[in-house]
Amino acid sequence: MNVPLLDLKAQLDSLESDLLAAVTRVVKSTRYIQGPEVEALEAEIAAYCGTTRAVGVTSGTDALLACLMALGIGPGDRVLTTPFSFFATMGVILRVGAVPVFADIEPKSFNIDIASVEELLADDQQRTIKAIIPVHLYGQCADMAGIMRLAAQYGVPVIEDAAQAIGAEYPMPVEGGVQYMRAGSMGLAGCFSFFPSKNLGGIGDGGMVVSQDSDFADMVALLRNHGAQPKYYHRMVGGNFRLDPIQAAALRVKLPHLDQWHRLRRRNASRYNEFFAASGLVEAGKVATPQQVYEEGVGNGASSPLTHIYNQYVLRADKRDQLVAWLGENSIGCEIYYPVPLHRQECLGELGRGVSCPEAEAAAERTLALPIYPELTEEMQRYVVEKIVQFYR
Ligand SMILES: *Cc1c(COP(=O)(O)O)cnc(C)c1O
Repeated sequence: MNVPLLDLKAQLDSLESDLLAAVTRVVKSTRYIQGPEVEALEAEIAAYCGTTRAVGVTSGTDALLACLMALGIGPGDRVLTTPFSFFATMGVILRVGAVPVFADIEPKSFNIDIASVEELLADDQQRTIKAIIPVHLYGQCADMAGIMRLAAQYGVPVIEDAAQAIGAEYPMPVEGGVQYMRAGSMGLAGCFSFFPSKNLGGIGDGGMVVSQDSDFADMVALLRNHGAQPKYYHRMVGGNFRLDPIQAAALRVKLPHLDQWHRLRRRNASRYNEFFAASGLVEAGKVATPQQVYEEGVGNGASSPLTHIYNQYVLRADKRDQLVAWLGENSIGCEIYYPVPLHRQECLGELGRGVSCPEAEAAAERTLALPIYPELTEEMQRYVVEKIVQFYR
């Protein structure tokens, strides 16, 4: 059996005619820059996330970059983030001339550790930390209650890197209980990526910034168009960060299916969890299955909150690198997210020296993502777990 990490063809089977119709609509409209498809998607994403505004951009990377530019962050400033993320999270900080500061992760969720965030903010006597970028890794939100509390205390804006977490729900404590808020809607702004492997993937690159703050959203919208207002009068230096209308039209076909896809991914995660528990591998300490930190024991019923949307299903595995090779030999797709923590990346040079984040370093040695896409079958999942059992035998 062949089990790819991601099978976009499986999704295409049911969507092909709608996608082609959407692309044709854009081609025939001759509205090839901005226009009604982009505006419609922005309104739909804002409604989906529970924000007042959404601004379509070229990619998740440019969403983050535009947010840092909108905050006016540059040389002399520092930005607090996690060392365990895709490179873009750190890359944008360096590109605006600022310096990344790394809080370690907490091992259960792989997300930024709030005690570490607090320590770094308390140590920042000169107040050079000008933003916090938490990442909602693998599809589960970071501790946003803690982050927003510290952000308010220290007066630092929060830009959520929600590239892997569109639609993920977070139980924000409110008087008398919790209110489920969607990823990207809690900080000053949230950044999404429509890279094809994300839960909501385009037919190419794309991204979005969402915000509850209309001044901030206006600034991002200005920056995506070279800071021009009106045309040819440049109030600030921005870039060409405009979302392609063909992508917007394709994403509008997919958005109505997104929650169903999240639920199928959650069903698949539950199945893996069951199979691994039954295999004895978890008990034997060979693998650790991912944790839903906000709903232990709640289950994955149709109405349960989407606190984890499983953009990735990530194990911690003993003898990880040998297991990767074994899975490859058995035609099972897998990937390591991420083999090198950001503070150890070569391009960081001097800035990475002396930085120590032991939990992130430990995670980088053991994590392994298995296929989790919605169309994955039970038979395929059984096969994956059987092969892993064979490996450890
Ligand atoms: C995918 C991703 C990005 C970048 O998004 P692109 O659309 O590929 O530019 C940023 N941060 C995280 C955590 C991501 O997973």
